[in-house]
Amino acid sequence: LEKFDIHKVRADFPILKREVNGKPLVYLDNGATTQKPKAVIDAITNYYSDMNSNVHRGVHYLSQISTDAFEVTRRKVQEFINAKEDFEVIITKGTTDSINLVASCYGKVFVHEGDEIIISAMEHHSNIVPWQMLCEEKGAVLRVISMNEKGELDLEAYKNLLSEKTKLVSVTYVSNSLGTINPIKEIIDLAHAKNVPVLVDAAQAIQHIKIDVQELDVDFLAFSGHKMYAPTGVGVLYGKKDLLNAMPPYQGGGDMIKDVTFEKTTYNELPFKFEAGTPNIEAGICLAAAIDYINELGIDNIKAYEDELLEYATTKIKEIPSVKIIGEAAKKSSVLSFVVDGVHPYDIGVILDKLGIAVRTGHHCAQPVMDQFCIPGTVRASLAVYNTKEDINTFIAGLTRALNMLV
Ligand code: PMP
Repeated sequence: LEKFDIHKVRADFPILKREVNGKPLVYLDNGATTQKPKAVIDAITNYYSDMNSNVHRGVHYLSQISTDAFEVTRRKVQEFINAKEDFEVIITKGTTDSINLVASCYGKVFVHEGDEIIISAMEHHSNIVPWQMLCEEKGAVLRVISMNEKGELDLEAYKNLLSEKTKLVSVTYVSNSLGTINPIKEIIDLAHAKNVPVLVDAAQAIQHIKIDVQELDVDFLAFSGHKMYAPTGVGVLYGKKDLLNAMPPYQGGGDMIKDVTFEKTTYNELPFKFEAGTPNIEAGICLAAAIDYINELGIDNIKAYEDELLEYATTKIKEIPSVKIIGEAAKKSSVLSFVVDGVHPYDIGVILDKLGIAVRTGHHCAQPVMDQFCIPGTVRASLAVYNTKEDINTFIAGLTRALNMLV
């Protein structure tokens, strides 16, 4: 199956060579953030060693090359998600920033008292709270698509929620706490049948699944660089041209203006209208190196490889009788969340850490999901392209050892 050489892939990530607590690192917290390949680390060094300068402002040479490199990223992203226009790609700080931008700017003109926003029961807090804040401000109502005990959305319930009051649907492509892959195309088509635009939170999808925004016909797409092998502090908001043009700016400041007088300011065109102030230039430029890295491996190869790993991990963990997997959707990506009766997730996490195994424990910024399953949190192992069956074996052995101590 492996269309790429996993040993070479692992060699690309310097951090994987280190030890933690005297044991070789087994990094299974990729849902939180991914490690960075040498190509990205080199790009960071190269940026500061060779071109550091502010973007969009200077006539001087360094400013021009850093501006060019920043714009190369925009076009790389455009190609990566198949956006029609490069100016439909807004460079943000991350998924949270992108969602807040839409809640604020789309909300300002399109959401009024009594209107409704639809989200789902499996959203990350960053796709809940901005909408709650908007609803509170506007007197609008937040509606939530329910999910079943496997962690799959109820599409019949969704159809019933959609109405002429609905002003936006905002749902995640992949759940960070359960791993569920949502039928995003169907969700979009149903909304469009009622002329409702859709935002897709792709924070846990962009690094695992091929995304074509034109094929999906998605209206807004949000994701973070740091979960796709790029530095922290950069993310993307894709938006359809007409929607972005109809929205007011997010923040006021440098670069987002055409003309400023004390009487009146006119705004810059897309994408700069939404990019006030100096961005994280280094992260922005180096996102291109991360996209190159993913493209070299091939996103479909990555998906096939990770799917096989997830299946292996799921089979292995099911051999431990006391483990209960949380999230057993028919379609899943790269996340294995579980609980053990009578054992706190945190205690498992601490023992695994002693063995050099990094997992996340807790509510994963999805408290309503935990509430639905009546649990305080889960242990979550989340995969990336550099994980191996050996990682899974070490993790399962560590978990078995932890449970022997705790149960
Ligand atoms: N949505 C989902 C589904 C996520 O997993 C995350 C990150 N855990 C976010 C949004 C927020 O991303 P960021 O913290 O990078 O803004």
